[in-house]
Amino acid sequence: MPSEFEIIRRYFAESGLQFPRAGITLGIGDDGALLDVPANRLLVMSMDVLVESVHFPLNADPKLLAQRALAVNLSDMAAMAAEPLCFTLGLTMPQADSDWLAGFSAGLLDLAQRYNCPLVGGDISRGPLNIAIQVQGLVAPDKVMRRTGAAVGDQIYVSGCLGDGAIALASMELPTQFGAAFRLEPGCATAAIQAHFRGAFYQPEPRIELALAIAHCVSSGIDISDGLAGDLGHLLRANAVGAVLDSASIPYSEAARTCMSDSNRQLAALFGGDDYELCVTVAPAHCAAAEAAAAATGIAFTRIGAIVSGSELTVRDRTGQAQLIDAAAFQHFRQMAN
Ligand code: ADP
Ligand code: MG
Repeated sequence: MPSEFEIIRRYFAESGLQFPRAGITLGIGDDGALLDVPANRLLVMSMDVLVESVHFPLNADPKLLAQRALAVNLSDMAAMAAEPLCFTLGLTMPQADSDWLAGFSAGLLDLAQRYNCPLVGGDISRGPLNIAIQVQGLVAPDKVMRRTGAAVGDQIYVSGCLGDGAIALASMELPTQFGAAFRLEPGCATAAIQAHFRGAFYQPEPRIELALAIAHCVSSGIDISDGLAGDLGHLLRANAVGAVLDSASIPYSEAARTCMSDSNRQLAALFGGDDYELCVTVAPAHCAAAEAAAAATGIAFTRIGAIVSGSELTVRDRTGQAQLIDAAAFQHFRQMAN
């Protein structure tokens, strides 16, 4: 079994993961990393912890797991409109399995290179499989995207498609609060559809490029990790405002349209989670510029509603009927799902 130093050297320090990047003065090897933060930038830090059997299934593919662990952290950088700078890794594992470590390291390398975000340090210890990643990023003070800033009349947009993360999770035998509600109907789950949902869960695309492109147009933003209702709810509370969503505009993947009823699909988008898409607000005067900037990235950017006064989140269906989304609606959903 390789020693701790051997693991660090082989799978982290010398695996290509700590490639040179402007702003990284010193990476792995000393007691701490040294970062050179430009005077006109703020340093953004964010961390996510993934625990086996809670956040991912036992015996998950280490390469996919690594990609997910880094992607969900990069999604937080996108949600602040920050450019990724580097990351650190806290890893506990029951034993040092060379194949597992090689896969894990390769998965990290793939995303780290794509987002120019080298590994600069970390810690490892024996224990149950846990992956803690902290990402650092840089943002100009006037480009930061925060949860605060939304005003009545602002339009609400989301990136990509919603609901796929929750549908994927429900098909993975993890203890979810949603029971079997989103489990795929056996008849519709073709190999291509299963692969689509597996990709949605393990390889969410952090929306960095979109965030950087639209940052100058948005009034506030958040990433959707716990379902649109929950995360938009955080944003609404932070601004003491309400929102009206247009049910027919919520974007769904072809796979979700094929495999889920209309109502379950909407429940997955509102109350599911693990989508890692952005939800932003844009003042009416900046909507055209935001839509043009988003279109140039090729990433779907869909207007789904508007900020209103008050504190309620409501969803209007095709007939114009408004349904209040609140704690009671969530409770109702959980009862339905279980
Ligand atoms: P210390 O005794 O100071 O905790 P370690 O022996 O744990 O130092 O780590 C030595 C070096 O290796 C440090 O630079 C540390 O940041 C780095 N390192 C340790 N574990 C990891 C890891 N999982 N990924 C990347 N770097 C790591
Ligand atoms: Mg250590």
